[in-house]
Amino acid sequence: MMKFLDLQAQYQSIKTDIDSAIQKTINATQFIMGPAVAELESKIASYCGVSYGIGLNSGTDALFASLKALGIMTGDEVITTPFTFIASADVIALTGAKPVFVDINPETFNIDPRKIRGAITKKTKAIIPVHLYGQCADMDPIIEIAKKHNLFIIEDAAQALGAEYHGKKACSMGTCGCISFFPSKNLGAYGDGGMVVTNDKKVADYIKTWRVHGARKKYNSDFIGDSSRLDNLQAAILLAKFPHLDGWNAKRLERATYYSKQLSGSKYSPPVVDTDRKHVFHQYTIRVPEKRDKVALDLKSKGIPTMVYYPIPLHLQPAFSYLGYKAGDFPESERACKEVLSLPIYPELADRDTEQVVGSIMSF
Ligand SMILES: *Cc1c(COP(=O)(O)O)cnc(C)c1O
Repeated sequence: MMKFLDLQAQYQSIKTDIDSAIQKTINATQFIMGPAVAELESKIASYCGVSYGIGLNSGTDALFASLKALGIMTGDEVITTPFTFIASADVIALTGAKPVFVDINPETFNIDPRKIRGAITKKTKAIIPVHLYGQCADMDPIIEIAKKHNLFIIEDAAQALGAEYHGKKACSMGTCGCISFFPSKNLGAYGDGGMVVTNDKKVADYIKTWRVHGARKKYNSDFIGDSSRLDNLQAAILLAKFPHLDGWNAKRLERATYYSKQLSGSKYSPPVVDTDRKHVFHQYTIRVPEKRDKVALDLKSKGIPTMVYYPIPLHLQPAFSYLGYKAGDFPESERACKEVLSLPIYPELADRDTEQVVGSIMSF
C-alpha cells in the first residue's frame, strides 16, 4: 500500500552516508555540543542568508527561545493564526503572554495581513507568521505593520525550510526564523531537533546561553534557561541529509505541479501559490468543499492515505478555552479545518503513485 510518507525509502537512498555519520559520532563519543552541531548551525544560517544559527531540542523550543530572547512575558500579547500546529501558539502562553489569533487568507492558508491591524493593542509585542504547508506568509505587508507598530516578527518556518518570498529565503525576514527537524519535515532528523536563525547577535547570544541553563560559564547561570541542545548525533545525520534538501524540495514541487495540473478545474481546489513565491510543499493540501471525511475514507479504501492538517482550529481547542474565543470568530480557519485534505507528497513518491492518487480522486 502507498505510504503517506516513506522515510525508509529516503534512508535507503542515502544509507551509506547516514550510517557513517552515525558511526563517526559514536566512535568519537561526541554526543553533546559536538562539531556537527556547530557545522550544521553555520550551514543552515548561511543557507537562509542570516548570520547565526543556534541548534535546539525542537522547533517548539526554537519558537519559545525566540520569544524569551525578545523579552516576551506576562502582560504581553503575541499575534498568530489559529490554523496551524499548536506549537505556534502554546509557546506564547508558556512565556506568560497572551496568544491573539488572526484569521487566515483562504487562498494560501496563511495569516491574513489585512486582519492584523485590528488585533493590535498597546500590549502587542510580536507577530508569529506561520509559513504553512511550505509557502511563505505574505511578509511585505506584515513587515510594514510590524515596523509601524514596533513589533518583532518571529517566522515559524517549521514547514518551510528552503521556501522563498520575493527572492528572500524563509527565516531571513523576521528577527528570528524557527526551523523544525522533526522526522517528517522537509529536512528531518532521526528524532527531535530544531534551530533558530537570526541576524541579531544579542538574540543569538541569549539563545546559545538559554539552551545551557542560562550559563555562559559552567555552573554559573546568568538567567533562568533550559536544557535544549540539538544532539550531535542528530546534527551529524542532518549534515548528511542537508546537501539533498534542494533536490528533494524540487521533487516535491514536481509532484505538486503534476497534481495541480490534473486537479485544475475540478471541484477539489489545488493549492494556490501566490505570486513570486517558492513553495516547498511540505504538504500538498487540497480543499474538498463537501464531505471531506467521506472522501478521505473512500481514498483509504482504495489504498490511498491522506491526512487532515488541521482538524480543529486552535481557538476551539480546550487548551485555549481560557482565551474566551468561540465558534464563528475565525470563519476562514474554521472552514479550512472542515475542507482541507493533504495528499501524499515526498521526493521518493513514484509517478505511478501520483497517477493513482489523481485517478482515485477524479473518479468520485
Ligand atoms: C512541526 C511544527 C512545529 C514544531 O516543531 P517540533 O520540532 O515538532 O517541536 C511548529 N510549528 C509548525 C507549523 C510545525 O509544523
